[in-house]
Amino acid sequence: MLNKIAMGAIVVSCLFFIGPQMPLAKEPLTYFPIVKKGEMLEWEKVNKLLPKGTSFKVIDLETGFYFQVQRRAGNQHADVQPLTHDDTAVLKHLYNGKWSWNRRAILIPVKGKMIAASMHGMPHGGGALANGFPGHFCIHFSGSSTHRSRNIDPSHQLMILKAGGHLDRYASGASARQAVSMFLVGMKQQDLTLAKPVLSARLQRDKDIRELFKGITSMQYEIRKKSTRFPPIVRTDISAKVKKYDENGKQTVHYTFSLERKSMTDSWKIIKIKQ
Ligand SMILES: [Zn+2]
Repeated sequence: MLNKIAMGAIVVSCLFFIGPQMPLAKEPLTYFPIVKKGEMLEWEKVNKLLPKGTSFKVIDLETGFYFQVQRRAGNQHADVQPLTHDDTAVLKHLYNGKWSWNRRAILIPVKGKMIAASMHGMPHGGGALANGFPGHFCIHFSGSSTHRSRNIDPSHQLMILKAGGHLDRYASGASARQAVSMFLVGMKQQDLTLAKPVLSARLQRDKDIRELFKGITSMQYEIRKKSTRFPPIVRTDISAKVKKYDENGKQTVHYTFSLERKSMTDSWKIIKIKQ
């Protein structure tokens, strides 16, 4: 019990700590006091808990801001629409006034549970509610997949792990390739917290590395096969081709990631990134 109270106090004080750095709200926003991380409930179960037509609350993990949505469609994930103009305004505020495909970690309270999920902020397709939102957007849960490909979306899945507080645990069991993928998804989503668990302490503080998590508006990457310079036991290199778009336009960069672990049971850390 004491532990729970202590955790709550830490999380709430973190929220206050984050608060002043957020851009000033133009709309009236309400905080949800986040005292626990989400449960990674599987899509099949969520699908029954939140059937089409259900309205529910979406809480942004980082800010605690929340708004209401209604699930209208979607078979492998939830296609939702903000309920009212005010709900649309909160969503837009979370994306700094610009609709974006970037994922955000969210929590959804339902029937005494707090479910870990991930959303993007780009209106697309059809919309039916009088909410000023031109279409719908998607919310993914553990095991959700996309419309067309039936693929699991790696960005959404990492955000769900973030909402569930499981990024470190995932990183500790990740292969070297998965570790690089965590870094690249973090870069794509401009969210350093996704990459931190796989970065060495030195790289976490590196200014050039931190710069990679700013200013990218969209990005595609391809992880190339490992080089065989070192047997992938405690040391390995992995390269990736990254196409990124920022204010200078499109750029293609090749990165080589050097990874190390202390023993075969230890987790991989990226110790060097070469362009
Ligand atoms: Zn969708």
